[in-house]
Amino acid sequence: METAIIGGGIGGLVTALYLQQQGDIVTVYERKEKLGGRLSFLQKDGYKVDEGPTIVLLPDMIKDILKEINIPLEKINLVKIDPMYPIHYRDGTTLMKWSNVKKQIEELERFFPNEVEQFKVYLQNMEERFSKGKSAFLEKSFVEDSFWTKENVKTLIQLKAYQTVRAQVNAYFTSEKLRDAFSLQTLYIGGAPQQTPAIYSLVPYSEHAHGIWYLNGGYATLVEILVSEMKKRNIKIERNSEVTEINAHEKNAYSLVVNGVEKKYGRFILNGDLPVARKLVKEKKQRKYVSSSGALLIYLGVKGKLTTGHVHQFFMGDALKNVMDNIFIQKQIPTNPAYYVFYPSLIDETLAPEGHGVAYVLVPVPANVNINREDYEVCAQHILKDMEKRLDENIMNKIVWKEIRTPHDAKQDRLFEGGAFGLAPTLFQSGVFRPQLKPFSYDNIYAVGASVHPGGGVPIVMQGAKLLAEYLSREKREVLKNEHK
Ligand SMILES: Cc1cc2nc3c(=O)[nH]c(=O)nc-3n(C[C@H](O)[C@H](O)[C@H](O)COP(=O)(O)OP(=O)(O)OC[C@H]3O[C@@H](n4cnc5c(N)ncnc54)[C@H](O)[C@@H]3O)c2cc1C
Repeated sequence: METAIIGGGIGGLVTALYLQQQGDIVTVYERKEKLGGRLSFLQKDGYKVDEGPTIVLLPDMIKDILKEINIPLEKINLVKIDPMYPIHYRDGTTLMKWSNVKKQIEELERFFPNEVEQFKVYLQNMEERFSKGKSAFLEKSFVEDSFWTKENVKTLIQLKAYQTVRAQVNAYFTSEKLRDAFSLQTLYIGGAPQQTPAIYSLVPYSEHAHGIWYLNGGYATLVEILVSEMKKRNIKIERNSEVTEINAHEKNAYSLVVNGVEKKYGRFILNGDLPVARKLVKEKKQRKYVSSSGALLIYLGVKGKLTTGHVHQFFMGDALKNVMDNIFIQKQIPTNPAYYVFYPSLIDETLAPEGHGVAYVLVPVPANVNINREDYEVCAQHILKDMEKRLDENIMNKIVWKEIRTPHDAKQDRLFEGGAFGLAPTLFQSGVFRPQLKPFSYDNIYAVGASVHPGGGVPIVMQGAKLLAEYLSREKREVLKNEHK
C-alpha cells in the first residue's frame, strides 16, 4: 500500500515507522523545513532549546513504542528529575513536588501535616483508577470497539468522569495551595482544572507513579533519532511540502496536491492539527470544536548560570481559579499570570556554547489571536521582571538573546485557533467524543495527532500512532481475507 502522511509531527513520524514495518511504502509530507512539529528545537548561534515539549511523562509508554518500531533504546538517555519541581506561591512560600513518595510525605509533614493521610488515600485511589483508565481509554480506539460497554461505563463512574479535576482534588485536600499543586497539571494539555473532566487526574497521579524525566540533548532529540532511522529504512520525507488538497471520488480519496503537483496514493493520514487539517478533506458536515489554551513562550540564551537549582518550576500568579477564568472565560491575559520555567542547562551542557545556557518560560494565555502581539510583549516583560524578583535578580544582565512566540505564531503554524495543545480536553472532546483515527466518511483517510483520540502530549500521541497502526493492520487482514473468499 502506498501511504501519504500529511505532517511530520511526532504522530506522523511514529506512524510512518510502524507502517513501513507492516510493508507499506510511506511518504511523509511536511510543510516546514524542519520535522517534529511542536516537538522541535529553536536553534540559534550555537544555542538550542526545545520549542514545545519539555516534560517527559510516561517513559515506559515511550520506550515500549520505540521497542515495537525497533529503535534501539540505547539511543535515548532519559534522566529522572526528582524533586520534580518546586511550586512557588505568590505569598513567598514554596512546595516541592517529589515523585519519591517518602520525600513527598516529608515535605507535606513540614507544611501541611493535616493533609498527609489524605495524600496517601489519594495515591491509593489513583493507582487503581490509573490502571483502569489506561486500559479503557488509552489502549483502545473507538472506531470498531464500542465505547458504551457496561465495563467502560463502570470505569467512567469509578474515574468520576462526571466531576472535574479540581472537584476531585478538592475532595482530598483542604488547603488551596495543595489543591493547586494537584490540579495545575491540566495546563499541560491546555485545560483549566475546574473545566477538565476527572479522567485527566491521571496526569498529576502519573507524575508521582512514573516520575518526570528529561531526555538528554533535549526532548526534540527524539525526532532526530526517528528521522535518522526513517532515512535508513527508505521512508520518503518531503520537506517544505504543504499539502493543499486531497481529491476523492465517492468514498475514496485518490490523490493529494503538494506544491501544485498532484500525486496518487492508496491511503492518506492527516497529522496536522485536525480541526485545521480537516479542511483538506471535502466533508460536508464539520463539527464545531473548542480550542485548548494558548502559550506565550519566552526563549532565552543566557551568559553564565541562572541562580536556580531546578530544571522545571512553577510560579503561581493570582488565585489559580481567577487566572483560569481570565484565560478560558474572559479570554484575557491575566494581570499576574502563573508561569513555568524550564532551565535544562542546569544538567545538560550540550545546549549552548561553553559558559552559556538556555531557558524557556511558558505562560498559559488564551488561544485568542484578537489580543495584539504588543500586549503579549508587555506580558513577557512583566514576567521577566517577576523572574528578577523570584528566580534570579541578575537575569536581565545575563540574557544574551530572547525570542517570543505567541498564539499568532501558533496559528501560522496551522495550530487550531492559535491554541498550543489542539482540542481542549473537555468532556465532550475526550474519549469517544474526540475525533477518532478514521474521522471522515471516506474509507481511506485517517488521522493521528494531539487533537485525535487518545489526545495530546508526546507519549499519548505516540500511543495514538500505535493504535492507528494496529487498526490498519487489522483492516488489511480483513481485506486479504475477503479477497481470498
Ligand atoms: C509550548 C508547548 C509545550 C508542550 N509541552 C509538552 C510537554 O512538556 N510534554 C509533552 O508530552 N507534550 C507537550 N506538548 C504537547 C506536544 O508537543 C504535542 O501533543 C505533540 O508534539 C503533538 O504532535 P502531533 O503529532 O499532533 O503533531 P504536531 O506537532 O502538531 O505536528 C504536525 C505537523 O504537521 C505539519 N503540517 C500541518 N499541516 C500540513 C500540511 N497541510 N501539509 C504538510 N504538513 C503539514 C506541521 O507543520 C507540523 O510539523 C507541548 C506543546 C506545546 C506547544
